[in-house]
Amino acid sequence: MTLQHLLGGIVGAGNVLTAPEDTKPYFTDWRRQYSGAAECVVRPASTSEVAAVVALCDREGVAVVPQGGNTGLVGGSVPMGKRREIVLSLSRMNRIRAIDPLNDTATVEAGCVLAAVQKAAQDAGRLFPLSLAAEGSCQIGGNLSTNAGGVNVLRYGTAREQVLGLEVVLPDGRVWNGLRALRKDNTGYDLKQLFLGAEGTLGVITAAVLRLFPRPSANATAWIALESPRAAVALLALLRERLGDRFSAFELISRASLEAVLAHSRDAHDPLRDVHPWYVLAELGDSGEPTMLRERVENALADCAERGALCDAALAQSGEQSRSLWRIRETIPEAQFTNVKHDISVPVSRIPEFIARAGEALEATFGKIPIYCFGHVGDGNLHYNVGSEALMPRSAEVSRVVYDTLTEFGGSISAEHGLGQLKREEIRRHKDPLELELMRALKDTLDPKGLMNPGKVL
Ligand SMILES: Cc1cc2nc3c(=O)[nH]c(=O)nc-3n(C[C@H](O)[C@H](O)[C@H](O)COP(=O)(O)OP(=O)(O)OC[C@H]3O[C@@H](n4cnc5c(N)ncnc54)[C@H](O)[C@@H]3O)c2cc1C
Repeated sequence: MTLQHLLGGIVGAGNVLTAPEDTKPYFTDWRRQYSGAAECVVRPASTSEVAAVVALCDREGVAVVPQGGNTGLVGGSVPMGKRREIVLSLSRMNRIRAIDPLNDTATVEAGCVLAAVQKAAQDAGRLFPLSLAAEGSCQIGGNLSTNAGGVNVLRYGTAREQVLGLEVVLPDGRVWNGLRALRKDNTGYDLKQLFLGAEGTLGVITAAVLRLFPRPSANATAWIALESPRAAVALLALLRERLGDRFSAFELISRASLEAVLAHSRDAHDPLRDVHPWYVLAELGDSGEPTMLRERVENALADCAERGALCDAALAQSGEQSRSLWRIRETIPEAQFTNVKHDISVPVSRIPEFIARAGEALEATFGKIPIYCFGHVGDGNLHYNVGSEALMPRSAEVSRVVYDTLTEFGGSISAEHGLGQLKREEIRRHKDPLELELMRALKDTLDPKGLMNPGKVL
């Protein structure tokens, strides 16, 4: 019997895809930067099916590439086509298994689309705060495997911090049921942390217990114009003194990024009359009356304007206005689709200096080139995207300049997207050899045959 027949016996023949027209979307990444091939795409519907598929692959020496929504930006979810491989799509494992509003937890399967988890939490009167522009397509399993960040990290932390328990199929097909819904559990090593952010190289996440939060009854969205990134960092500190931890997002947006959106999307409008070099999109949430929060924010912004800490600001007056401001932010990735992307982090206080130094270093080598700088400034995370399609053949040189500058600032070459294929080699220049050795030892212990997502991360 062929591998496909054996797999069909586990998941049903209709869930083993082999025709090129069926497999194509699974073999190419969202940005169409990576494509490969595999023997087939397998779509199990339960943890026991995943376990049986992985055990079969272990016996046959076939590698497994776990795939969620395939929105990852580092080529982690697509096969490389260099050996016998299957793509294991989790998309049929999309059940919300349970919601416990009194424990503030949701137990969900890995293939649940992030937006569906947010909706389920909302229907239960709670908030699941993980939020990113790909939330209509990316899946919880992918979010946890990449330790996704997104726009609410400032208040709620990254994906890792939303997890209380995990269910994982190990590389030999055994199921680790760590679906505990406990906030306190000091009974030895916290094993779930191994799989969070592991990009599918240590096992397949099949389900998770997620933390839920009270839903803020009041929200405020502000679009703020600024002279410089330095002003943005100073403003965040100033506003936090006034408004405390009500901030869930504080997003820096350069004028070039806004202009890319205005050129790309007919519906988008410049929120302010005058042109400014930098903007911040801030989101706040609180309990109590919405008007009270808006008043507080208005007063704080007016104070900051009087002190010269900002150039101009607009506060959304309705949900629709808030959504249209957020659409600008969410459209930036597709509005500057093909250029040299960097997802980096530095200490928040050093962002202004990094932006200045990286810009100077790039100009010294490549002359004047467009730079689309935007991102989660409140978390020290910038999407620092350089040039246009014409510069792509020189992308390695461009990244070298950016990453060398980053090293001087003690930054990370991957703040939230992971390493995948894209940064697998580059990380060797930045990570302590001892750290790499420890990572390799963990990989060899859990996956001695090297069958889980080979060629990614390490
Ligand atoms: C427009 C856009 C905006 C984005 N914005 C952000 C952002 O703000 N913040 C951010 O962090 N990311 C962002 N991303 C990147 C991407 O959405 C995230 O990395 C997301 O978490 C990936 O989820 P996914 O389901 O698409 O995973 P995939 O792309 O399918 O997989 C990502 C990695 O996880 C592994 N994997 C997937 N599912 C499992 C599983 N069940 N078990 C084990 N391993 C698994 C894969 O093998 C791969 O290595 C953005 C992407 C796009 C396209």
